[in-house]
Amino acid sequence: MSPRTRKQVLILGGGFGGLYTALGLEQTLARDSSVQVTLVNRENFTLFTPMLHEVAASDLDMTHIVNPIRKLLSRVQFFHGEVEHIDLASKHVTVVNGPERHGHELKYDYLVLALGSTTNFFGLPDLEHRAMTMKSLSDAIHLRNQLIDLLEEADFECAAGERPNLLTIVVAGGGFAGTETVAAVNDFLRESIRFYPHLTADMLRVVLAHPGAVILPELGPKLGAYAQKKLAARNVEIRVNTKVVRVNEDAVDLSDGSRIPTKTVIWTAGTSPNPLIATLPCKLARGRIVTDEYLEVPDWPGVWTLGDCASITDSKTGRPYPPTAQHALRQGKTVAKNVIAAIRGGTKHSFSFSTLGLLAAIGRRTGVANILGINFSGFVAWFLWRTIYLSKLPRLEKKVRVALDWTIDLLFSKDLVHLLDLRPPTVSHIEEEADAAFVASEH
Ligand SMILES: Cc1cc2nc3c(=O)[nH]c(=O)nc-3n(C[C@H](O)[C@H](O)[C@H](O)COP(=O)(O)OP(=O)(O)OC[C@H]3O[C@@H](n4cnc5c(N)ncnc54)[C@H](O)[C@@H]3O)c2cc1C
Repeated sequence: MSPRTRKQVLILGGGFGGLYTALGLEQTLARDSSVQVTLVNRENFTLFTPMLHEVAASDLDMTHIVNPIRKLLSRVQFFHGEVEHIDLASKHVTVVNGPERHGHELKYDYLVLALGSTTNFFGLPDLEHRAMTMKSLSDAIHLRNQLIDLLEEADFECAAGERPNLLTIVVAGGGFAGTETVAAVNDFLRESIRFYPHLTADMLRVVLAHPGAVILPELGPKLGAYAQKKLAARNVEIRVNTKVVRVNEDAVDLSDGSRIPTKTVIWTAGTSPNPLIATLPCKLARGRIVTDEYLEVPDWPGVWTLGDCASITDSKTGRPYPPTAQHALRQGKTVAKNVIAAIRGGTKHSFSFSTLGLLAAIGRRTGVANILGINFSGFVAWFLWRTIYLSKLPRLEKKVRVALDWTIDLLFSKDLVHLLDLRPPTVSHIEEEADAAFVASEH
C-alpha cells in the first residue's frame, strides 16, 4: 500500500509520553501495512530525566542516561526534527530538520501531542539569560562544565578576590529537580576541591532558595525536614520561604532583601507547557491542553495529548494528575490502546492511576522516599531510588553501563575532564595532515 493511502498516525515528542505511546503501537498497529506510525523528536534520543543530576555531578557518563530512539523502535518510523507548527484544522504539522532547518509538511489522520514542558522564568528580569536550567541533557553537561570552569578559574592566584563569587552556587527551587541538583552539585564540588591546591572546602558556598516552608513538598513535611537536616549537615545553606527575585551579572537578589554574590544560578523553580501548545485552538487549563478521560482532546476527534503538556483530571481527586514520568509513560500506554480502538474499532480505555511512590536522592548514599504511603529515609531510600530507577531505565545495555558507572564511582574520585575544552584541530593542523596524506598518496 502506498504511503499516501495508508492511515497516518503522528506522535509529536519522544519523551516518556510519546515513546511509550510508540512502544504500545510497535507490536500492534505499526505491523499493519495499512497504517504508518511516525514519531517526531527534536533529539535522536530519549532522555531519562530522573538521573539527569548524576550527569551534572559527573557520577554518570552523559550518554548512559539517553537511548537512541531508533534502537527502541523498529516498526514505528522515526523523524529527527523540530516541530514548528501544528495545524489541527487541516491536519498537518510543519517539521524542520538538519542544520539548514529544511522544512517538511507531515500530514496525519491521527495525532498524539507529547511535547512536554519548558522552564518557566516567570518573566523575572534577566533570569532567562543569566540562569542555568536543569531540563535537558545539554543543561546537565553545561552545568558540569561550568562547575569545573569555576574551580579552574578560582584556583588561579590572580582570582583570589573573585573566589567568593566564583565558588558560590545558588539553586532556586526546592522541588525534586532542585533538591537533587543542589545535593549533587554540593557533593561534586566538595569532593573535587582537593585537586585544586589553592582552594579549600570552606571557600565553597552552596545555597538552596525555596519559596515554601519545607523543601520537597510532594513528600510531606517529615521527609522534607529530614532532607533539609541532611543537606545542612553537609554545608548546604537552605533558605526557605525565600524566592529569587533578580539575577544580576555577579549576584542574585532574594525576596528577604539579601544579596548573594555569585556567578552561577541554577533555576529549577518552574515549568510551563511547550510553547507550541499555546498556539493550538484547544481548551487550556494552566497552559495545558484539557483532555477527556480517554486522553482525547475535546472538539478534535483523533487528537490525543498526555504528559507534561496535558491537563488530565484524576476522577478520584478532581484535580489534574501531576506532571511526572511515571504518569506520562502510563498515559502513553492508554493513548496507544485508544489509537488502536479508533482505527480498528473496540472499547476505549479511560486513564486512571494512583502514584506508586516518590523518591529523591539527596547525595552521599542518602535518599528520601514515600512508597505506597510508607516513608523511607537514609540509605534504604537511596538504595530504593537506585534500584527502582535502574529498573525503569530503558534497554539492558544502558542499565549495565549505569550500573558500571556506579560501581566505578565507589572506587575512584569524580572525573574532572572539561568537555568544552575538546576543540577540533586548528586549520593549520588540518592543512598539514592533508598535505601529509597527499604526499603519502603520491608515493
Ligand atoms: C531534572 C528532572 C528530574 C525529574 N525527575 C523525575 C523523577 O525522578 N520521577 C518522575 O516521575 N518524573 C521526573 N521528572 C519529570 C518527568 O521528566 C516529566 O514529567 C516527563 O518527562 C514528562 O514526559 P513528557 O513525555 O510529557 O515530556 P518529555 O519527557 O519532556 O518529552 C517531550 C519530548 O518532546 C520533545 N520536543 C519538545 N519540543 C519539540 C519540538 N518542537 N519538536 C520536536 N520535539 C520536541 C523533547 O525533545 C522531548 O523529547 C523530572 C524532570 C526533570 C526536568
